[in-house]
Amino acid sequence: MDDRIIDVRGFEILDSRGNPTLAVRVTLGDGSVGWARVPSGASTGAHEARELRDGDRRYGGRGVRRAVAHVDEIIGPAVAGRAARDQRGLDETLLHLDGSEQKGRLGANALLGVSLAVSTAAANGLQLPLYRYWGGSQALTLPVPQLNVLNGGAHADNNVDLQEFMLLPIGASSFQEAMRMASETYHALKARLKAAHLSTAVGDEGGFAPDLGSHEEAFDLLVAAIGDAGLKPGQDVALGVDAAVSAFYRDGRYHLRERALTAEELVDWYAQLADAYPIVSLEDGLGEDDWEGWQMLNRRLGDRLQIVGDDIFVTNPERLQRGIRERTANAILIKLNQIGTVSETLDTMAMAARAGWRSVVSHRSGDTEDTAIADLVCATNAGQLKSGAPARSERVAKYNRLLLMEQEDPGLRYAGRDALAR
Ligand code: PGA
Ligand code: ZN
Repeated sequence: MDDRIIDVRGFEILDSRGNPTLAVRVTLGDGSVGWARVPSGASTGAHEARELRDGDRRYGGRGVRRAVAHVDEIIGPAVAGRAARDQRGLDETLLHLDGSEQKGRLGANALLGVSLAVSTAAANGLQLPLYRYWGGSQALTLPVPQLNVLNGGAHADNNVDLQEFMLLPIGASSFQEAMRMASETYHALKARLKAAHLSTAVGDEGGFAPDLGSHEEAFDLLVAAIGDAGLKPGQDVALGVDAAVSAFYRDGRYHLRERALTAEELVDWYAQLADAYPIVSLEDGLGEDDWEGWQMLNRRLGDRLQIVGDDIFVTNPERLQRGIRERTANAILIKLNQIGTVSETLDTMAMAARAGWRSVVSHRSGDTEDTAIADLVCATNAGQLKSGAPARSERVAKYNRLLLMEQEDPGLRYAGRDALAR
């Protein structure tokens, strides 16, 4: 049970877009080994922790050999001998070693790789599943999945502005049933697209990415597909949206493909959509620095919808604190690599819970076979996990982890509708 760190190694591997990313292996004194693989976003927030890329000619500048070297030559030697089970002390050492505002000196990818691999090594040392190691006997909840089945925005080359249209199987009685509902709807959607001679090629997160006449057409297709699968829209399967509009904001307006809208006009449109369709969750409805707009959005729609902040909060406790103070949302998206360490991520989630806010744990559009986020969402009882479509193995890996957890551990319970109750 010697949990002292004796070896830390970085490796360059590939993510689901074929870009390099970092894997880290941590070995403890008792021989236990832990791995972590780091994901990478495309529609990244300006305030996120900075991943370090080589910027040379390999892989169009996206290599991570410098981050690997930082793991091997700087971080590894500095944390050698530390107790792996002291995650907080370890993460403080990482922050201190980096010393920069947005973690770009050693690289947030290098820091997260080590932080997460230390957790998995410690869990393995205790022969505990990661969710039990992080959450103890209180880790009880399997999440409602938010499955992104139609892609637009920065994740697809179609004409759809909104980035993600998601299925939330809130009416299922188990995680297995939730995935069945989602998968059957996904296939029904594919059949509808085919029948309408629309593209069934998929975007980065496994959702279909057809050119469509309007956003309303996207919602109509989803509602029809849920019905085709023999399910009730809103009752069995509700809808979620990640508008991801930070990228469209310029000079006080949101420049969608065919319209330039003020924050107020955009919120009017969301209200109309929420009237017409069974939408329960809206992520990044406004831009990452439009704090006033967010206040208005939350005032107008916060009692009907889960208002989720991703780019605006970037899993950062300081930005979340401001959000709670100014009532800019009622939920936060959680991405480990936006902030860079396990401890800070857990702190942000705890702060959200104290304020009565929901946390939605999330993958990145560039991801790997790593499944730690499935354990994280269970460990914290957060109740919602966003991990793309029920297709593409880097997405399905997280869902499969939860499917196995449910079948192996009778102590776990599906969150269902309660996950979104306020
Ligand atoms: P990203 O997208 O991983 O490309 O940032 C996911 C999201 O916006 O939620
Ligand atoms: Zn988002």
